[in-house]
Amino acid sequence: MGKGKSFADKLAKASQDYSRHCKECGESIQPVLFVSSEKSGKGDAWRFNQRFVGVCKCNENDLKG
Ligand SMILES: [Zn+2]
Repeated sequence: MGKGKSFADKLAKASQDYSRHCKECGESIQPVLFVSSEKSGKGDAWRFNQRFVGVCKCNENDLKG
């Protein structure tokens, strides 16, 4: 049981390291995948850009409209 607990502690620590917290609102910042499309220079080919955007209470309203 003791080993199991330490393993859980490690998991908790790892997840804490993964999530960042906003200094403004104190909420955890969730990485949300945004896909934007833009035309490439040649022809009618579209390029899709994927990027992660950190979302917290400060900007979630802006992003959701
Ligand atoms: Zn915030």
